[in-house]
Amino acid sequence: MDFAYTPRLTDLKARAIDLYERIVPYEAECEENNGLTPAGFADIREAVLATGLQAINMPEEWGGAGLSVLEQVVVQDELGKLTNALWDCVWRPANALRACTPAQRERWLGPDIRGERRDAVAITEADAGSDPGNIATTAVPEGSGGEGYVINGEKWFVTVGDVADFLLVLANVPDHGPTLFLVDKDLPGVRVARTPRYTHTFVYEHPEFHFEDVRVGADTVLGELGGGMDLTRDWFTEERLMIAARTIGAAERALTLATEWAQSRVQGGARLIDHQMIKAMLADSAAEIAVNRAFTHQVAWEFDQGGDRKTLHAKAAMTKLAASEASGRVVDRAVQIFGGRGYMREQPVERLYRELRVDRIWEGTSEIQKLVIANEIDKRGLAGIVTFGHEAVTAA
Ligand SMILES: Cc1cc2nc3c(=O)[nH]c(=O)nc-3n(C[C@H](O)[C@H](O)[C@H](O)COP(=O)(O)OP(=O)(O)OC[C@H]3O[C@@H](n4cnc5c(N)ncnc54)[C@H](O)[C@@H]3O)c2cc1C
Repeated sequence: MDFAYTPRLTDLKARAIDLYERIVPYEAECEENNGLTPAGFADIREAVLATGLQAINMPEEWGGAGLSVLEQVVVQDELGKLTNALWDCVWRPANALRACTPAQRERWLGPDIRGERRDAVAITEADAGSDPGNIATTAVPEGSGGEGYVINGEKWFVTVGDVADFLLVLANVPDHGPTLFLVDKDLPGVRVARTPRYTHTFVYEHPEFHFEDVRVGADTVLGELGGGMDLTRDWFTEERLMIAARTIGAAERALTLATEWAQSRVQGGARLIDHQMIKAMLADSAAEIAVNRAFTHQVAWEFDQGGDRKTLHAKAAMTKLAASEASGRVVDRAVQIFGGRGYMREQPVERLYRELRVDRIWEGTSEIQKLVIANEIDKRGLAGIVTFGHEAVTAA
């Protein structure tokens, strides 16, 4: 067993740190203006291309960086240190787009990988959040020869929906069930109904979309008719690992800042770090970061060895659950160590405190992760999820 980073992983980490350093100067501007100027976006785009970290989840032959899951985790861990969700400027097309046909790849995925167009994922609805099977959006076939579909419905919380060029819309097709469609945002009948404000300041928005008699061709079906839930689940699985990785990076940044502050600030005649209660907060935080980073790396590595998708799905749920909850505690302690200064928006720890809250909600709440894990224990037993997945590895 060798836990050392390979030269390639070391190089990727260095490139991700380089990208972080190029983007971090934009944080204050983004916080103050709730977004970036076109010049800011253009600079960041250039930095992404310069470090070669665009579309890290897509194969090299399609123009992506072609990283393994473990390699992606290493990159996301670094980018997660950015506040204002500036990590989301480092575009990574939705994993479900790997199901594109060659023609769809040319029209939608290729430009997405090159950073010329953006996608956004539209699954959640007013009455379908944790239970996406309850969606009410429909895609009804029209034309006797199956020429296309008419989409009607509403989608909530569409991250990047403000700048996206096309949306992956989950809609029910009669006799088939939930299906993903590639829907260009400029089609007649696609409308942003509302752009609510959220707890965090995010470089993009999460608008609410209405679809009113939106006509799309049969060539916009992504994957199989009725295959939308499977594609969505696959997307969730890897995305949950990436969330785990980002929250760990964020927690490390918060702890680094809190440690520096605790070493330099003197109160009651001693440095903060000399007070035992502060020491305990630092120690608890370091332990939570180290443990979650190790486990997230482990599960990412297991993904790359292949193995049972259902077990990996549960393990990815474990990484997200454990890392997002632990990182939330770490940033909370960091705010506490900074005292009143920790409550000021100009402090990265304050922004991380607000920003990490959603990681316990999106891509499946903590409660839903627990259901996934408990169902796995019930169906296939405990061994597969609390060990190193040796079966998958020896079979590889
Ligand atoms: C900032 C932000 C960005 C988002 N981006 C996107 C996006 O890009 N695309 C997209 O499609 N969606 C997106 N979402 C939606 C997100 O995935 C959902 O909010 C999430 O899945 C929870 O759904 P809900 O909000 O409807 O809560 P609900 O499902 O109503 O849950 C409410 C509470 O009940 C609990 N609960 C629900 N069911 C159960 C159960 N069976 N057992 C126990 N407890 C349960 C939940 O854990 C939660 O605590 C985003 C959300 C936010 C806040």
